[in-house]
Amino acid sequence: MREAALAQALEKDLPESVGPVFFRKIGPRYLLTNDAGSHLWLEQDPFLSFLRGELEKETPLWNDLAAGGFLGNYMNFEVLGGRWRQRTKYLQEGAGLHLVALTRRNSQGSPYAARPAAGLDDHQFDMTLALARRLAKFIFDSPSSEITLELRGGDPLLNWDVLTFLARHASSFAGSVKRKLRIAAVSPLASLTDEQAAFLAEFKIAVAVPFDGPRDLHDSLRPDLEGGSGWERTLAGVARLRKAGVEPEGFFTVTRGALGRAPDVIAAYRDAGFDAIRVRAPWPAGDARSRWKEIGVGAAAYSEFYRELLDGVLALEAQGIPFREKGAASLLGKILLGTDCGAVEHRLLYGGGLGELAYDYNGDVYPSDEARALASADGDALFRMGSTDLGFANLVGHPTVRALAVASDLGGQPTCSRCAYKPYCGVSPVYNRAAQGSLQGRNPTNDRCGSYLGTFDALFERLRDEKTKTVFERWARAEEYRQGEPLPPFLSGGLL
Ligand code: SF4
Repeated sequence: MREAALAQALEKDLPESVGPVFFRKIGPRYLLTNDAGSHLWLEQDPFLSFLRGELEKETPLWNDLAAGGFLGNYMNFEVLGGRWRQRTKYLQEGAGLHLVALTRRNSQGSPYAARPAAGLDDHQFDMTLALARRLAKFIFDSPSSEITLELRGGDPLLNWDVLTFLARHASSFAGSVKRKLRIAAVSPLASLTDEQAAFLAEFKIAVAVPFDGPRDLHDSLRPDLEGGSGWERTLAGVARLRKAGVEPEGFFTVTRGALGRAPDVIAAYRDAGFDAIRVRAPWPAGDARSRWKEIGVGAAAYSEFYRELLDGVLALEAQGIPFREKGAASLLGKILLGTDCGAVEHRLLYGGGLGELAYDYNGDVYPSDEARALASADGDALFRMGSTDLGFANLVGHPTVRALAVASDLGGQPTCSRCAYKPYCGVSPVYNRAAQGSLQGRNPTNDRCGSYLGTFDALFERLRDEKTKTVFERWARAEEYRQGEPLPPFLSGGLL
């Protein structure tokens, strides 16, 4: 009956008192959001009254709607415009995130193994010092006054001479031109030595490690190519790094073997000494594409796993044991603090080329690391733009970057343009290409979109509980990205 009344209200022209609003029914209630990033819950009857323009003025509900910018006749454009500007400040900044793949070599396998695979002694897939020298200069051609240099691979530690050169050179150059610099590396840490750990500590290099939690899961997805246990070697590297004073972060890719095992994953992370986890959905690319039936996870299964994991983490918090899901924390910053979380994949326009650039071991330049990794995993070089010889302005204004921006514009995506999560979400045309064969993609059957719907539903449902909201606010502040600082590392999308 009420559903029919709602459909009827929506069929008519809405009254002027209804401002720009997205809504989504979750359980018995309606979540309202808008481009200023406000959100508000309404029960069904008040929601109907709102849509019909029948709300009584100056009531607490009316005041909340007015403050959130949901009432057409009572919108404070100065305030709402200020919020929008704060949330989308990245649109006025240059590409400050630079991801450099130092080698394709890796001592551990990966669900997205490179093609062609590089043997451990196969140095033809290493970046040369001469190329690193050119790159170290090139990244400072970015007009952004804050630079993040993230070193990836393969395992970047296996090309140690180039890693140390880049860290030293970029640090001293940043100091001489008074630019802020943050350096980070993603590595399985399987071959980390005490000397290397000391260097990472000395240069304050943030480190992230792909860690799949339980031993059997990690070893099945990331086997040690020398015949040992990748899980054991990674944990030995984590311990060595901690001894040197660097606390790494772990990120976890949800694969089929993890389903139903969220408590085991949390326990494995805690046993390994982590106080946080960063959860990622898998991509149908590289090995994972051909083994999708064995390891792939669709949106529904991902969302169920995510809810279980989130509840497990919140149960720890309820016992006074701090532990957080960092992906949630970044999104919660957008929801609760009204700030940009720094993630180049959660933007109004995809951040490839606009917020980040990625460089392959051989000098090929891509708009984003996931575009570079897709070429490495699948041999699909659609997004390759050329080399640094093109110059910074030509790369960030490259037709590929423009095509990515147009394809990802949330206002131009039919489902996103009306989605309640549009103010906090973003589209990856690179994922769309990998999963659905086109830049635009088709959201109704797109697992990335479905996974985000599930993630946002889980977060908003739990936000209704005051105690959980307090925990979420703490998480958001712990991960808050402050404007004027280099972009946080490990937030670029990708295949890791
Ligand atoms: S990608 Fe999906 S969840 Fe995100 S804004 Fe678009 S429709 Fe909504």
